[in-house]
Amino acid sequence: MVREDELRAAERAVEWPEAVDAGLVYIGRIHTPWTSRLDCPRQGRLDGPTCRIEVFQPWDQALAGIAEFERLEVLYWLHRSRRDLVLQSPKSDGATRGTFSLRSPVRPNPIGTSMVALVGIEGSTLLVRGLDCLDGTPLIDLKPDRCAFTPLAPPTPGDSDVGDP
Ligand code: SAM
Repeated sequence: MVREDELRAAERAVEWPEAVDAGLVYIGRIHTPWTSRLDCPRQGRLDGPTCRIEVFQPWDQALAGIAEFERLEVLYWLHRSRRDLVLQSPKSDGATRGTFSLRSPVRPNPIGTSMVALVGIEGSTLLVRGLDCLDGTPLIDLKPDRCAFTPLAPPTPGDSDVGDP
């Protein structure tokens, strides 16, 4: 269920650490039709609306070659999430699950990921379908769909899945 910043029955928050480790750089901004969490889809769909991913200078230079890919993985910072919950009650019914067993936007490092369809490029703006974030969400990375890459070498014993039935 959609939340603002309330603590629900049986949820548990922890003390936020004074220091943080990593300094992220926002490399762009995502423009979507959704301004409220009440309207925003829980997960993006490839038949959803076209959204715009604006890539800031100088990172726009890093878009070279991206047009070759039909699918991209988009990583974004769910900047309006609280970050201190370890137990959450998605249905607000008192039943809780650990944050790491949920895809909730509420997490210590609120990174969201979506696999999107690349439907167009206008300069340093990508047009994509498949997002589920609020208008203005900061962009933190773009990667081509991992399935588009052929492994460099055949798998060998010890690699995951080798020998699995
Ligand atoms: N697809 C991503 C994932 O699985 O990592 C995000 C899933 S999360 C369940 C999507 C929800 O996060 C949306 O329905 C909305 O309620 C919330 N959300 C979207 N953008 C947000 C933002 N910028 N800050 C906080 N919450 C956001």
